[in-house]
Amino acid sequence: LNRRLAEFGTTIFAEMSALALSTGSINLGQGFPDTDGPEEVREAAVRALRDGRGNQYPPGPGVPELRTAIAAHQEHHYGLSWDPDTEVLVTAGATEAIAAALLALVEPGDEVVALEPYYDSYAACIAMAGGTRVPVTLRPDDGRFRLDLDELRAAVTDRTRLLLINTPHNPTGTVLTREELTAVAELAVERDLLVVTDEVYEHLVFDEAEHLPLATFPGMRERTVTIGSAGKTFSFTGWKVGWITAAPGLVSAVRSAKQFLTYVSSGPFQYAVAEALALPESYFTAFREDMRAKRDLLATGLKDAGFEVFRTAGTYFITTDIRPLGETDGFAFCRALPERAGVVAIPNAVFYDHREAGAPFVRFAFCKRTEVLEEAAQRLKTLA
Ligand code: PMP
Ligand code: GLN
Repeated sequence: LNRRLAEFGTTIFAEMSALALSTGSINLGQGFPDTDGPEEVREAAVRALRDGRGNQYPPGPGVPELRTAIAAHQEHHYGLSWDPDTEVLVTAGATEAIAAALLALVEPGDEVVALEPYYDSYAACIAMAGGTRVPVTLRPDDGRFRLDLDELRAAVTDRTRLLLINTPHNPTGTVLTREELTAVAELAVERDLLVVTDEVYEHLVFDEAEHLPLATFPGMRERTVTIGSAGKTFSFTGWKVGWITAAPGLVSAVRSAKQFLTYVSSGPFQYAVAEALALPESYFTAFREDMRAKRDLLATGLKDAGFEVFRTAGTYFITTDIRPLGETDGFAFCRALPERAGVVAIPNAVFYDHREAGAPFVRFAFCKRTEVLEEAAQRLKTLA
């Protein structure tokens, strides 16, 4: 293994899901739903397979039906208009979109400013691109993790090439506010930076929170690569269909990298996702409402078990602080939790360069069936 990748080892998600299996624990670690997405979308995939649509290499940028549907979805939800032929690219999940964007846009030695804690593939992809990551730590403040705008400004240097943003934010559940996003946008324009924004949880925002795509802010449309995923929006994490929207020059750059990573993305699923994106508003509302109820159920369980619980404004994760339980080391806590309570969670410290800043935080996923969450809450009560 080369030096660029050696520090990363095995992803925490694989490690913790294996631990859940070997101990028979409830897996609230890795974020994947335990029920599948809409039946009519599954039927659409079957139809595509049967009709021989996409069984051979589909077009590199993605099938036209899906690119058109992605553009229509962005127009409908955010008033952003993208040309399906030049401003949309289908990828093998958001994971490939992140990799291809960083490999295409970062030069060796470039600095990439990323919000910390960061989704684990960001660090590895910045490293593979030969870049240097510069984390800006989200700080707990009155029940939510917030972006410190002075720290963000201070992180940008003459070597900064790109800001890597994620909202709604995994693992903290923060949704960046209009004020925070305005500051990000102003900084990007002032310092002439590119922005890659991972918005895979765009439809999972709760209560008063609102998802504001960075590309809608002044000066951002031409410098922003926006990432979406059918895995998150339609609960098909195994299909690996994601996408980017961006100006033609950026899409063409990311496509240059994508063509040598996967060449194309899985064909029949693209036709099915095109149909999913056209589902009526009631699908998105019901999905959000279902997840909100699950969030409340798990949050109550975690509070009853003695955790401090941060407010999840978006995503399907709850970040907790384990210090009220008399614990300080999230790693040790998560390694012992299957034995102690039959539940698996993720130590947020793995998403930090400043490990000590993340040490007492532990993430639980609530994209699980109600009875599973109820059982997990019951088991966690033994900790209190
Ligand atoms: N970005 C974030 C913030 C995520 O949480 C995930 C899924 N865990 C991904 C990207 C990857 O998405 P996909 O499954 O579409 O590759
Ligand atoms: N995005 C999911 C999470 O944060 C897992 C994805 C993965 O396993 N790579 O839990």
